[in-house]
Amino acid sequence: MLWETVIEWLYPRRCPLCGDIALPKGELACPGCKKRQRRLSGARCFRCGKELERRERVYCPDCEVREFSYERGFALWQYDAVMKRSIQEFKYKGRQEYADFYVEQLLEEYRERLLALELLAVLPVPLYKTRRQERGYNQAELLAAGIAAGLGLPLITDFLVRSRATRPQKELGPKERQKNVETAFSVNLHSQTAENPPSCILLVDDIYTTGSTVEACSQVLRQAGVRSVYLLCLCIGTGV
Ligand SMILES: [Zn+2]
Ligand SMILES: [Zn+2]
Repeated sequence: MLWETVIEWLYPRRCPLCGDIALPKGELACPGCKKRQRRLSGARCFRCGKELERRERVYCPDCEVREFSYERGFALWQYDAVMKRSIQEFKYKGRQEYADFYVEQLLEEYRERLLALELLAVLPVPLYKTRRQERGYNQAELLAAGIAAGLGLPLITDFLVRSRATRPQKELGPKERQKNVETAFSVNLHSQTAENPPSCILLVDDIYTTGSTVEACSQVLRQAGVRSVYLLCLCIGTGV
């Protein structure tokens, strides 16, 4: 406890939403910032979880024209300017502690819904091994670990792998994105999970834009024997 106090004093926690020191002390984010960051609400696309502009729709325009192999996605926030900066710091500036806040918020919103799905395991979208080494961590894995712990489920990190390096999706258009990740993922047949894959899993990632990355993961998992893949993402793009 004393040690934690010393750490807190030396490295005060920063608010993931504004980047300043989070006040009052002990909070994971400023209460004001938290209130301002509106969560997705109202009618949502039945596939990806995006907010629908027209309530009478079931799917967003993206999901209406594209087949996906996953069951359903849940996302917490719009990928707006605040979250863009927040996730950049989380991913590239070593702000791993932001995961605590993100996980707290995700669970606050979705714990009950997720518990009702009869999930058997939580898997992060993997990074390619050299990229993970460079960065020192996989941001999706930090989220997945917190979610798994919060739901009382096992976290599986050695089954789904990124078997080749890909260009960052943000540099590409929708068609290119699909191509970029199409054959990027595979399952590790030497992992224990490969012998008896869980039938229903939750795949976790930080951002969902066109869905190409998670779809590529989902296809590989389905081929390996997983029956249902659900998604949980921190942020989702507005789409077309
Ligand atoms: Zn703040
Ligand atoms: Zn959708």
